[in-house]
Amino acid sequence: MGIHFSSLRLRISLLLGVILLYVVVAICYRTIERRDADIAKALEALRTQAALVADQQSGIVQETRDLATFLFIGRDPTPFARTDLCSQALARFLKRNQALDNIRLIQADGSVLCSGRAAAFDAAKNRAFAGAVLNEPDVLAGTVTISTTDGKRILPIGIAIRTGAQAPSLLLLASLDLGWFGRRLGEASLQGGTRMGLVDSQGNVLAHYPDPARMVGKKISETAFFQNILANGGQGTGEQPGLDGQLRLYAFTPFTYASGGPIYLWAGIDKNTVTAAADHQLLSGVALWLGLALVSFLVVWFVGDRLFIRPVSVITETARKLSSGDYLARTGMVADGSEVGELAAMVDRMAASMASKAEILRLNRALRVLSGCSKNIVLAQSEEALLDETCRTIVEAGNYLMAWITFRVQDDAKSVHIAARYGANISWLDGVPISWSDDHQGGGPTGKALRTGQPQLVQDIAAELDLGPWQEKIYALGSRSAVALPLTDGGIAFGALTIHAAQAHIFNPEEVALLEELAGNLTFGILTQRSKQERQRAEERVERLARFDTATDLPNALELVSSLELVIRRSLANGGQFALVTMHIERLLDIQDVIGMAGADEIVRQLAQRVSAVTGGVHFIARVARDAFAMIMPLDVESLAAIPRYIEAITEVPYEYAGIPVDIQISAGSAVYPEHATDPDALVRRSDIAARQAWSQGVIHNLYGGESERESPERLTLLSDLRQAIRTDQLVLFYQPKVSAQSPAVITGAEALVRWFHPLHGAVSPASFIPLAEQTGLIKPLTYAVIEMAARQVATWQHANKPMRVAVNISPQNLLDPDFFDFVSSLPERTGAALSGLDLEITETALMSDPERARQVLEQFARQGMRIFIDDFGTGYSSLAYLATLPIYALKIDRSFVMRMNEPKYQTIVSSTISLAHGLGLKVVAEGVETWEQAEFLRDQQCDDIQGFLYSSPKAAEEFVEWCEVELQTIHTR
Ligand code: C2E
Ligand code: CA
Ligand code: CA
Repeated sequence: MGIHFSSLRLRISLLLGVILLYVVVAICYRTIERRDADIAKALEALRTQAALVADQQSGIVQETRDLATFLFIGRDPTPFARTDLCSQALARFLKRNQALDNIRLIQADGSVLCSGRAAAFDAAKNRAFAGAVLNEPDVLAGTVTISTTDGKRILPIGIAIRTGAQAPSLLLLASLDLGWFGRRLGEASLQGGTRMGLVDSQGNVLAHYPDPARMVGKKISETAFFQNILANGGQGTGEQPGLDGQLRLYAFTPFTYASGGPIYLWAGIDKNTVTAAADHQLLSGVALWLGLALVSFLVVWFVGDRLFIRPVSVITETARKLSSGDYLARTGMVADGSEVGELAAMVDRMAASMASKAEILRLNRALRVLSGCSKNIVLAQSEEALLDETCRTIVEAGNYLMAWITFRVQDDAKSVHIAARYGANISWLDGVPISWSDDHQGGGPTGKALRTGQPQLVQDIAAELDLGPWQEKIYALGSRSAVALPLTDGGIAFGALTIHAAQAHIFNPEEVALLEELAGNLTFGILTQRSKQERQRAEERVERLARFDTATDLPNALELVSSLELVIRRSLANGGQFALVTMHIERLLDIQDVIGMAGADEIVRQLAQRVSAVTGGVHFIARVARDAFAMIMPLDVESLAAIPRYIEAITEVPYEYAGIPVDIQISAGSAVYPEHATDPDALVRRSDIAARQAWSQGVIHNLYGGESERESPERLTLLSDLRQAIRTDQLVLFYQPKVSAQSPAVITGAEALVRWFHPLHGAVSPASFIPLAEQTGLIKPLTYAVIEMAARQVATWQHANKPMRVAVNISPQNLLDPDFFDFVSSLPERTGAALSGLDLEITETALMSDPERARQVLEQFARQGMRIFIDDFGTGYSSLAYLATLPIYALKIDRSFVMRMNEPKYQTIVSSTISLAHGLGLKVVAEGVETWEQAEFLRDQQCDDIQGFLYSSPKAAEEFVEWCEVELQTIHTR
C-alpha cells in the first residue's frame, strides 16, 4: 500500500511545486520588469543630470553675456578706468559662479584690464582669440587650454562689450573650469560608480570623473565608445561598454559649442548598481518562496499523511475489499462533515447496500444450484453422470470457480479418488496427490472434510497457513475461498464435494447451510445410483446367465439363435450364404465320470479356446449343449472343406485336466443358409442332425443332407403322405435278428424296423420320416401302428410255434403319452399276443426328458414281462449308474462305437462299457456289427448279443423266418 500513498504525496508535492514555479516565474518577471524600469529610471536620471550640467554651463554663458551687457549699459567706457572697482565686481561674479576658474576684462590687444582674481595671463597668446571675440556678435568659445599653473582644463568663453555704436574694444573672458563640471557631475551622481566625462569633437577627453589624472587629455577618437557618441549625434541614452570595456548605462548631450566644434558630455553608471536592488529583491523573493515551498512540502509530506492521505487510504482499502467481495468491509470513519468524511460515510452506506444485495444474490444462487442439482439427482442415468452434472451445475449456476467430487480410498496412503470435476483450468487436479491423511497432503479442505466428516470452510486462501502443497497453485488459478462438504453414509465420510470461489469471504453461514443440504441430496443420489447399478448388474448377470454359458463364457443356444437371426437378416440384405457348424464332443459324459464335472467343464473351456484359436476368433461360437458347440461361418468353397482340418487341429493334442490327458472326439455337421434352412431353429436342428450323422457315418464332418427335413412343399406332401401311409398300411415292418455273441446260432430276438413303401417315391428311410413324425405329432399313430403290427406278428409266430421276441423302437414322445400304456395293455386282447413277447427300445435321451415319469412307465411295462433296451447307448448324456436304477434289460452299444472298434480307444470304451453294464446286471447288445473281427472282439469281451449286417439286414417277416431257418442250419453246420 506504500506505493499508492507515496504517489499521492508525490502528486500533492508536484502540485505544490507547480504553484511555486508560477510564483518564482512571476517574481523573475517582476524583477526583470523592475530592472528595466530601474534602468530606464537611471538612464532618465543620467540624461537629466547631463542636461542639468549642460544647462548650468549655458547658464554661465548667459550670465557672462548678461554681465557683458550690464557692463555696457548706460555707461561710457571710462568706468573701466577704475580697475579696482572692476576687479571687485568680477571677483563677486566669480564667487557666484564656481564653474569659472576666472573672469577677466580684456582689451583688444589681449591685455587684462581687470580680473576676478589675480592670475597670470599670457596676453600675446590670447590676442588672436580676443580679436575673434570682438568681431563676434555673441559669445564665442575658444579652445580648451591647460592651465600652466595648476594643470586645470579651461575652456575660454569670450563676449565683446558693446558701448554705443562704436566698435567694441573690450571683451569679457570667462574661463570655464571643465574639471569643475566633471566634479559637479560626480557630485550629482545617483550612486557610487558613476562616471562622467567631457570630450571634444576630436576625441580629446576634457574632463573625467573619477580618476581625472589618468583620463583627462586622453585621445579616445578611435574607441567604440566615442564612435557611438558620434553615431547618436552626441545626444541620447543607452547601454554600452565604457572606455574600460565595462557595460554601463550612458547618457550623452552636447555641452557647448567651442570654436573647435561641439564638446560632448557623458554620464554613465554601472548597470549592476542600477539593477542591484531588483536583483536583490529577486534573490530574496525567490529565497523566501523556496523556504515557504520547503515548509509546505514538509507539511504535505508529514502532516498531509495524517490529514488527507490516511483517510483516503482507509477509504481506498475499504473499496478494494468491497470489490473483492468482502461486503462486510467498512471505513469505520466518523462523518465529521468534511468531504473525506462524507465520502467515507457514502462508501459505508454503499457497502451496506451491496452486502444486502450480495446476500440475496448469493442465496438465490445457492438455491439455484440446489434446485439444479436436485434435478440432476432425479434425472441422472448413472452415478458418473450425476457427479459430472453436479459439478457442472455448481460452477455454472452457482458461478463458482471450480467444483470437484472426491471419494475416500481405503489404502495405506489414504489416497483420494477424484470422481468428477468442473471449472476453468480444472485439469490442474491431474495427478495432484490429495490425501485424507493427517499431514501436509491432507491439509486442504477436501482432505480434512474426508478425515473429519465435518464441513470445511476456508474464507481466505491467501490468509490460511497450510492448505496442502498446492495452495499457491490454487491461488494462482484464482481461487480465494473454498468449502468442502463431506458426503457421509452411516456417519462416515465416504466422499466430499469441494467448491472453490474466486472471491474471499464469499461463503456465509446461510450459503454453507444450503450447500450442506446439497451435499446431503448428492449423497442420497449417489447411494440411489449405486443400488440401482447393483440391481442392474444383478439383472445383467441373470441376463448373461440366460444368454451365456458360465463354464466357457461363450454364448449359449439362446444367444446363438439371436445371432443367427441377425446374420440371416444381413444375408437377406446382401444375398450372402453361411453355414452353421455344430460340433459334438463325443462321450463327454464318460469323461465326466472319470474327471468329474469341474474337469469336464475345464475340458470344454480348453476346447472353446482351441476352437477360437484355430478359427482365428473370427466366427461366432456358441455352446449350444453341454457337449456341443455351434459356429457361424461365412460360406465359401474352402470354409466347409476346412472344417475337418479345424477339428483335427483341435483334437490332435490331448487335453489335460489335473495331469490326466484326455482324448476328445468331435463330430461336426453343417447346415447351410439358405440351402438347408432359412430360419435359426431349423438351421440349429439340421446342423445338429448332420453332426449326429457324421458320428454315425464315422466321418469328422458331414454336410446336412436329409431331404425330408427341408421346409419345402415336398416335405409337406411327405407329411400328409405319411399320415395317409399310417392309415392305409403303406408301412411295413422289417425284422433284424439279435444273435448270441457266444453262440450265433441262438437267435435271442428281433428288432422291428419300420419301412415305408411310398407309392411314388418308393422306399423311404425311417431316418428321414421318423424325425418328421416326431416333429409333427404323427409319431403317436405311427408307433401305435408299428406296435400293433409287431404284436400281430408275435401272435402269428406264437401260433406257428416259432416264438420270437420282437423289440419295437419307441420315441421320447411315446413315453410321455398318457394313453400309451393303456394302448399297449390292450394289445393282447386285440392281437392275441402276450406282452412278454414284446420288447421296447428306447434312447437314453428319451429317458432324460422326464426321468421320474420314464421310471414309472418303464416299471409298468417291465411288470408285463416286456424287456427294455437302451438304444443307441453312448450317444446321449445318461450315466450308467443312473440307468442301472431303472428296470432295464440291456444296453445297445451304438453302431458308431462298434464301427470304430479297430481303434484301441474305442475298444477300451466298448469293453469297459460291457464290463460296467455286466457289473450293474445289464445285458449288452452291440449294434451294427458288420465284420467277423468286430464279432470276435465282442465275443471276447463277453458281449451278450450281436445285431448287424454280418448276420442279417432287416428283412420282411417271411424272409426273416426263412433266414432264421437257413441261417440256423448254416450256423449249426459251421
Ligand atoms: P436303430 O433303432 O438303431 O436301428 C438300427 C438301424 O441300423 C436300422 O436302420 C438298421 O437297418 C441298421 N443296421 C442294422 N445292422 C446294421 C449294420 O450292420 N450296418 C449298418 N450300417 N446298419 C445296420 P433303419 O432301419 O434305417 O432304422 C433307422 C432308425 O430309425 C432306427 O435306428 C430307429 O431309431 C428308427 N426306427 C426304425 N423303425 C422304427 C420304428 O418302428 N419306430 C421308431 N420309433 N423308430 C424306428
Ligand atoms: Ca433300435
Ligand atoms: Ca440303435
